[in-house]
Amino acid sequence: MVHASLVDVISLGGRRAVVTGAGSGIGRAAAVVLTKAGASVLALDISEKALSETKAIALQVPDAEFDAATVDVSDPAAVDSVLSGEGLDIVVNSAGIMAPESLATTSGKDWDRVLGVNLTGYFNVLKSAVPRMNRPGSVIQISSMMGHIGLAFPAYTASKGAILSLSRQLAGEFGPAGIRVNSVSPGMIRTGMTEDSLSSGDQRDHITGRTPLRTVGAPEDVAHAILYLASDLSTFVTGTDILIDGGLISTLNL
Ligand code: NAP
Repeated sequence: MVHASLVDVISLGGRRAVVTGAGSGIGRAAAVVLTKAGASVLALDISEKALSETKAIALQVPDAEFDAATVDVSDPAAVDSVLSGEGLDIVVNSAGIMAPESLATTSGKDWDRVLGVNLTGYFNVLKSAVPRMNRPGSVIQISSMMGHIGLAFPAYTASKGAILSLSRQLAGEFGPAGIRVNSVSPGMIRTGMTEDSLSSGDQRDHITGRTPLRTVGAPEDVAHAILYLASDLSTFVTGTDILIDGGLISTLNL
């Protein structure tokens, strides 16, 4: 495109996006940023109250096209029902949970619960959303820095590593059909999921002290990468992952 202003290139006007986990944190920021870029957004979350807070924020955007629905992404029939009748251009899989347990203390129930949301939940959304996608389309999956390295907790880390490989596989399967699939891997981002660990000054200082940019991230830091992957700025980008961690895992040393 020649002589296009940035706003022309990044505009998502006329595009329909679905964002899971949109009641909080990264999903909420993504839903609001995509709304600001002109997309029509369907926000999904398990919590009705959290979603209504997201809706109140999104509806402050002038000319916002935004609606919301409560759904548990681990329930395939509920996901399929909420997406029926949709024609989607952008799919953001963000709904996630964590079980902060070692292998010894992770029960089979914990394992199934975490994988049921973080992996099968993403699968359920993909199964229902991808056949309803327009071409070109873009899928963005939230993995984690923990999917790249041997840290954190077994069920969570396994689910996030699986999202990296699933996204690469789907990029190969759907690239010829005009659907791009990428992931983003946040480092330590200030959200509901991390508020307990970040409320301890020692733990926060330990993390920021080892992070080259000397801070934790905001949900918007991740949402801006999601915006890039959703937009025409990334039309030749698929099968890749963007780390958004302030440089943390690239510089970890003993
Ligand atoms: P968050 O603030 O807790 O947001 C996650 C949202 O997903 C919450 O609103 C949560 O609702 C919802 N959710 C949970 N289970 C669900 C289900 N079964 N169906 C539908 N919605 C469900 O956490 P976040 O940090 O934004 O996490 C978003 C994604 O980023 C997750 O996939 C997470 O693993 C990933 N991530 C986060 C960080 C970080 O530092 N924050 C780092 C790397 C990756 P409830 O609150 O009611 O459970």
